[in-house]
Amino acid sequence: NKTIKVLQEEVAKRKEAEHKMKESLRKERELNELKTKFLSLVSHEFKTPLSGILTSATLAGKYTETEQQDKREKHLKTIQSKVKYLNNILNDFLSIERLESGKATYKFDTFPLSKVVNEVIYNSNMLLKDGQRINYPNNIDDITVNFDEKILELSLTNLINNAIKYSPEYTTIDVAVVNKNETIVIQIKDEGMGIPQKEQKYIFNRYFRAENALLDQGTGIGLNIVKSHLESLGGKITFESEEGKGSAFTISFSTKNNTN
Ligand code: ADP
Repeated sequence: NKTIKVLQEEVAKRKEAEHKMKESLRKERELNELKTKFLSLVSHEFKTPLSGILTSATLAGKYTETEQQDKREKHLKTIQSKVKYLNNILNDFLSIERLESGKATYKFDTFPLSKVVNEVIYNSNMLLKDGQRINYPNNIDDITVNFDEKILELSLTNLINNAIKYSPEYTTIDVAVVNKNETIVIQIKDEGMGIPQKEQKYIFNRYFRAENALLDQGTGIGLNIVKSHLESLGGKITFESEEGKGSAFTISFSTKNNTN
């Protein structure tokens, strides 16, 4: 009897070990698949802007005559906006790395809201399509906030750039701000393609991209990290959207009692 029990225990132990081994192999395979997916996403995402930069740089170098100044400037602007775009993607990737490793650190500062909003809109202007314009909020000059400036900038950059990217030419993007009881609410509203109803529940999932957006470049990372960062700081992001009509993304955060 004793021998049988020992044998049974031995079998159970081996089964357990085998199970653990299988599990760790499965995890390793999953990790490898994720790495491959990530690498192909990065290379794909960088390839098109980089080849655009090369073309524009080559052409800008050819337009040396005074009367070709306009053309030269146009290509230099293209280079600027594509470099900016790549830089934004890199910032998003760095955010993921920090969030994953638990190394995301936040820093609260007191600053005028208009400083960040101005800067983000100024940088986004480069990405506007023909006839697109951004309506700047007209009531923010006196608003001072206490928040993480970098996170606010990253959030607004992602939302405004999405509004531009997922809207056609000759549309308006409205940026509106409400400041009530030391809570700041910022809404970015576009007249673009919208998000199909059945896909709305996945929109904050990492790497998720809606079916109707696949012709545009994108990584499906931006909204996911904006949400993670904002929630870590006690803030929120929500949206409303209708396919073919447009979307409105709203972020809100308290500017009260924020200390490092
Ligand atoms: P990316 O834009 O790089 O794909 P995001 O995380 O910023 O990544 O957005 C995820 C997806 O959400 C997009 O691929 C798109 O399908 C959808 N989306 C985000 N913003 C908008 C918007 N303003 N209008 C329509 N669809 C949007």
